[in-house]
Order: sequence, then C-alpha cells, then structure tokens
Amino acid sequence: MQQVEQSTLREIWSPEALEDKNQEFESYSPTEIVEWALNEFGPDITLACSFGGVSGMALLDMALNINPDVPVFYADTDFLFPETYAFKEVVALGYGFQPLAFKSALTPEEQAAKYGEALWATDPDLGCELRKVAPTAEALSGHKAWIARLRRDQGSSRRDIGIIEWDDKYGVANINPLANWDEEQVREYLAGNDVWYNPLNDQGYPSLGCTHCTRAVQPGEDMRAGRWSGFDKTECGLHLPLNLEDAKPSFLSVLKNLIPGS
Ligand code: SF4
Repeated sequence: MQQVEQSTLREIWSPEALEDKNQEFESYSPTEIVEWALNEFGPDITLACSFGGVSGMALLDMALNINPDVPVFYADTDFLFPETYAFKEVVALGYGFQPLAFKSALTPEEQAAKYGEALWATDPDLGCELRKVAPTAEALSGHKAWIARLRRDQGSSRRDIGIIEWDDKYGVANINPLANWDEEQVREYLAGNDVWYNPLNDQGYPSLGCTHCTRAVQPGEDMRAGRWSGFDKTECGLHLPLNLEDAKPSFLSVLKNLIPGS
C-alpha cells in the first residue's frame, strides 16, 4: 500500500477527508482500524502503551499480532507504580519486544530542586508537561501517526473524539481504534484473546498513572475519578529502560499472579 508522504499529510487530513474517514471507520472493528493504520503509515507509525490500563493492552495485542516490529513507546515519568514497571517487563518478555521509554529531561531530584518537592501537588499541569507531554512529543518526533487508547466512554473530555484526528500539537495523525468501544468490550477482547493486563486494574485502579496522582476509584465513581483527585484536571495533557534490580521483587510477584506455577 502506498505510504503517506509528509508533505501531503495536511492535505489528506483536511476536515472533509477526516469526516469521511471517520464515518467509514465507525463500521470497522478496532483490529481492522489498527491493521489499516499499520499498513497506511508503515514504519512511520508508533503505538503508545502505558501498561496501566486495559485499552492499551488490547491495542498492543492487536498491533503486535499484525506487526511484531511496530515501535511501542511509553512515557516513563519516574513515578509509575512499581506494579506497572514490573508488568511492563512481564509483557515485554511475553510478547518478545522492547518498549521504548521516554523520560523527562529533568530527573525527579532536578525537578524538586527547581520547582519544589511536590510539583504534582502544587502544579500538576506543569508536572505532566515536564514528565508526560514533553517525553511524548519526543517519542512522536519523526513519526507521522500514533495509535492511542482513547475511548469515548472515558468521560466528557473524550466524548467526541474521532477514530482518526489530525493532531496539530504533535504534527501527527491520531488513531483511536477503540473510540467507540466501552470498557466491557475491551475486557471481552482481553478475555477472549488471553491478553494480560495490569493487576491493579482489578484492585480499584481502572485508570492507572503516577503514584502521586492516582487513587483507587470507589464504587459508582467515574473510571477516571482516581486521576488527579482534588484537582480540576482530568487529562495529563497528551494525549530508560527499567532498572530490573529495583523492580525484581514486584516483578516476581506479578509473574506469580499471572503465570500459575512460575
Ligand atoms: S500525573 Fe502527577 S506525578 Fe505524574 S507527571 Fe503528572 S503531575 Fe507528575
């Protein structure tokens, strides 16, 4: 299939073309959309997976089954849950791929020296800008499209997302294959295809980000209620390889839960 040329991207993704594509994709399955995207953009597409939610795991499984070499990245904020770091290692081993970690230019210590000990408590927007948005921009640099895990059922801020959108912020096409799926459909896919997901997703953390900004969700709350609780903030602004020695105890405990007899 012909690859999309950088110089023509903006023309191709005119508002009218986007509308047509989105209408067409509404009848596609997520796997079909992922397959279209991988064929359309070839090596110029990348997949974001945080290893903290069920949607990312479903997309990872779809994409790697179609193309085991698709580049996968995650923003390593340095503040992810130990279980997430450990789970990422388990997944990488299981699928036989290596996700690319993109980190802030500032270490946590440098951030504390410059902005205070708890930037996440005083200015989480800036915190996310430094530790999520900037690394994601770096990860997307040089790519023409990315596959993201957004769904319309994840709250009002995501209710109107398209399956394919042009992202001026990063200069890439956003592909949201799960836009019209809900949590139940994603979990059905995981169960039906034996796809692993972060153990914390079943322990009150359906949406998992950094330790400082994620709390367990209570029954009846929105699934993203546990993110930046207490702040008028529902999105991080996005849209190093793990030190295995540090993660080893958690890694082993996750492995024991996931693989009986290990
Ligand atoms: S979610 Fe919180 S801890 Fe993580 S980058 Fe954003 S502000 Fe920092």
